[in-house]
Amino acid sequence: MKRRDVIKGLGLLPVGGLAGGLDAFAGTGSPMAAPKRDLFKELGVRTFINATGTLTYMTGSLMHDYVLDAINYGADQFCMLDELQDKVGERIAKMVHSESAVVTSGAFSAMTLGLAGILTGMDQKKVEALPHIAGTGMKSEVICQKAHDIVYNHAFINTGCKIVAIETVEELERAINEKTALMHFLNISQGGKISQEEWVALGKKHGIPTSIDIAADVPPVSNLWKFNDMGFDMVQISGGKAIRGPQSAGLLMGRKSIIQAARLHMPPRGFNIGRGMKVNKEEILGMYVALEQYIARDHDKEWKQWEKSIALIEAAAKSVKDVETKIWVPQGGNITPNLSISWEKSGKTPEGKELQERLRNGSPSIEVGGGKKGINVTAWMLKPGEDKIVARRIKEELQSLLA
Ligand SMILES: *Cc1c(COP(=O)(O)O)cnc(C)c1O
Repeated sequence: MKRRDVIKGLGLLPVGGLAGGLDAFAGTGSPMAAPKRDLFKELGVRTFINATGTLTYMTGSLMHDYVLDAINYGADQFCMLDELQDKVGERIAKMVHSESAVVTSGAFSAMTLGLAGILTGMDQKKVEALPHIAGTGMKSEVICQKAHDIVYNHAFINTGCKIVAIETVEELERAINEKTALMHFLNISQGGKISQEEWVALGKKHGIPTSIDIAADVPPVSNLWKFNDMGFDMVQISGGKAIRGPQSAGLLMGRKSIIQAARLHMPPRGFNIGRGMKVNKEEILGMYVALEQYIARDHDKEWKQWEKSIALIEAAAKSVKDVETKIWVPQGGNITPNLSISWEKSGKTPEGKELQERLRNGSPSIEVGGGKKGINVTAWMLKPGEDKIVARRIKEELQSLLA
């Protein structure tokens, strides 16, 4: 048996236990692995099947074996942090068609660091001045469309800048002034009047850098390069959503001058606003391999698997009298088949939240989305075989709820 097969056969063993177990298996004479600790159990922390999505409060996504391998590999040796960021950044930039790239501690920190780089350039005095912009001569305003002004724009406020929200091209052009540092776009939003292409063109026309938040917007995989190709000066994405890299990682992609300056605000340097946004070699290597393997995977096959799982769960839910279902795909971001399940026809009153609660409290615990009228399910964060469990549990609880 090949090692790879052994690993597959062992399933999802924790990493420490896996390495020890393999050594023992290979007959190296090393001691058997210590009994693995069930840490969540020891701590009394609930674990669950994730049938809802890549949500930070649910710890995002699960890393594939190859990402864990990269993390473990990196954990065993020293290297220079800047050298690793340089080399990994070059490789990532090629993969995503950008001039440059750097691994950050998430899309949010990529927004802060990118803007910080734009504000200060390579001027160390300015780097040290942030977030106190007044009196430094640095620009201090970020323009975005009203519908794009969401919680995560606080990343920009961290630099000391303020957000100026506009709705039309006329308002945008009136808002642009000598203090405008950046024009930012939120890709997931369907609410703005101005398109991505227009945004880039307007930025070029007025000499203002443009930025786009695509944090949760793969699949499609092509979004990794689409906005770099389109001409955005910087692009931010999360590492720990569908890419399934470390949850504490993300990418800042874009112009070399911006990334270079952004690096002044990052560890190993400390006289800056970004020292607390540290990623070490493990996250950097994990992010690199996660991205490489994400790009290389068979996306059609993966999509078909999600559809298959959703169809299985739908059939189980629909087999209960008066239950209605709808399969739909969100636009903009979090693009994966979704299944809405409702029971208005039954005349029964329980809210979706009640079914959500029952699934949460059942065994195994399952997380789904829940609202007033029903629940919502996705399959992209399910492990193989979990679709059947989710289908069975939803059917059981629907039968009991609507009896
Ligand atoms: C998740 C998300 C963020 C934050 O990303 P992190 O990688 O968690 O820092 C920012 N913007 C949008 C639209 C998101 O969905």
